[in-house]
Amino acid sequence: MTSSRNLFRTLWLGMALLGLAIGAAFPFVMLRTGFMAPSEVRPPFIVAALCAGLVAGGINFALAASIVRPRLRILAARMEAVREALRQAAFTGNRAQWDPERSVVPEHGDDELGVVARNYNALLRGLHEAHQVEERIRGFTQALSSELDLAELGVRGLDLLVRNADAQGGAILLERHGDWKVLASQGLRGAEHIARGAAFADACRKGQGRRMALAPDVAVDAVLSEFRPQDVLLEPIRHNGIVLGWLILASSAELAEEALRLIPVLLQGLGLALNNALLYDDLQRVAALDPLTGVYNRRFGLRRLDEELARAARAQAPLALIVLDLDHFKQVNDSFGHLAGDRVLVHVAQFCLGVLRDGDLLMRYGGEEFVAILPGASLADAAAVAERIRFGVGAAPLETDAGMIAITVSIGVAACPGDAAVDPEALLDAADKRLYMAKSAGRNRVVASAHGQGVGSGQRV
Ligand code: GH3
Ligand code: MG
Ligand code: MG
Repeated sequence: MTSSRNLFRTLWLGMALLGLAIGAAFPFVMLRTGFMAPSEVRPPFIVAALCAGLVAGGINFALAASIVRPRLRILAARMEAVREALRQAAFTGNRAQWDPERSVVPEHGDDELGVVARNYNALLRGLHEAHQVEERIRGFTQALSSELDLAELGVRGLDLLVRNADAQGGAILLERHGDWKVLASQGLRGAEHIARGAAFADACRKGQGRRMALAPDVAVDAVLSEFRPQDVLLEPIRHNGIVLGWLILASSAELAEEALRLIPVLLQGLGLALNNALLYDDLQRVAALDPLTGVYNRRFGLRRLDEELARAARAQAPLALIVLDLDHFKQVNDSFGHLAGDRVLVHVAQFCLGVLRDGDLLMRYGGEEFVAILPGASLADAAAVAERIRFGVGAAPLETDAGMIAITVSIGVAACPGDAAVDPEALLDAADKRLYMAKSAGRNRVVASAHGQGVGSGQRV
């Protein structure tokens, strides 16, 4: 209130001086106009006139102050309260207690004070809105920043975006190995159809988001199941300027202007989180894979074996193991060189993958030894798969720069229930023993029983 106090002091001084000036001028006016004779204008009259002027000035001041002062006081008090609330919020980060509706001032009239009040109220609401947006962005980023699981990040990120935009559905498309994959989808059926549409191709080419009223390029009826969209938004998800994916938002009503401004800001947070999750995913992949053959490495493969065995036990389903070792591989290296030997390993791994079903797992167990896990397969099923591998590898020599390399493999097969309790070590041990039976029986064969010694080439026991 310091400045208003100064203002009122000046006003009071001005009014008092004006009153005194009028009081001083009054006797002269009386004389000049002839209302009073010079003999009547005596010092008591002059003092009375001065006093009357002063009183009039005081009344003027009181009137002006009584009208203006309460309004200014309310404004100052509310501003003070807002300032204090914001100061508190700066330390606590909590702006929940600050209710702008409790801090607004009455907007009386169109005079300057009315305009000040209106502008102050507008400023207050603007500030509150800005804080709300900031809170939403912060909440969004916080909710996603610690999520490293790609799928979970996609689901949570999309859900938050759909809710923030007040849309009814959407999807997140992610580029993986040169192809667009649907990372998450909500309310849309077959969101990948959008990725094949002309609108999406155009947006990708330009690297710019676009908005489509009733999505003319999208096969709406084929794609959208739960509602008819009036407004479809395609927006890139970037990190450091690189497009990692695309957000599709679909709404049955036109998307609000505010939401359209908010979404790109929220997508910055998602871009960062997505980048972290992708890096983590790559790291996991690298940590899980054998660098030469691209199949799972031993450490990861054995962990998966534990999981698959536990799952099989829960489901009371069978599970089989195939342990495969290349025959005389040392000779391959010695005759054709280490590089050609590496090619043989890659070739055998690829061949095995081609024979195995989806859901089966292949790991490089050692130098030239592979283990395949076949969930749901009985001993007989796995023995048939093993025979197909043995036969296929042996039937087609590998052409390399160093010459044609004939390869054969020996294979041991075990399964549970039957060969071992549900125990990874016992199962591996059983399959390994059979592999060595196959080796000592002359190699290039499959042994799938505990009595497999002395089996002829190509036969199964
Ligand atoms: P067997 O039929 O009894 O299995 O004989 P083998 O020669 O295959 O078996 P051995 O264990 O004596 O030799 C395995 C060879 O595999 C020795 C090693 O140099 C080779 N090897 C292991 N890892 C790699 C690899 O990454 N690349 C290449 N080129 N060779 C490898
Ligand atoms: Mg070998
Ligand atoms: Mg070996």
